[in-house]
Amino acid sequence: MSCKNCGIIPASDSYFRDVTVYADIVRVLDEMVKDGKLETTYMTCPFDRIFSDKNGNIAFYAKKMLHQVRCKECGKIYGLFCDVEVGVGQIKENDKVFNPDDYNKKD
Ligand SMILES: [Zn+2]
Repeated sequence: MSCKNCGIIPASDSYFRDVTVYADIVRVLDEMVKDGKLETTYMTCPFDRIFSDKNGNIAFYAKKMLHQVRCKECGKIYGLFCDVEVGVGQIKENDKVFNPDDYNKKD
């Protein structure tokens, strides 16, 4: 069953290499967050800073970006990942909220 609220998010296990696909997904998620349909659970930078901000700083030049959102209706979590260096991106369902500490464990 597809959720009426978040079902339009094109989650998939496949990767895309077209930056316009990434830009479209960014725009959709940004609008849904602003409309109160999604809440962000993790982001490497604000959506509106990915491609430009007032000072001309473009976060897209960061090597890797992750934006994770949660549907306020059904609780599904989606992660939008982009590796600019490699030139791939992906949006898919995540089973839990991203915690950077999971990837920075010492010892
Ligand atoms: Zn949903």
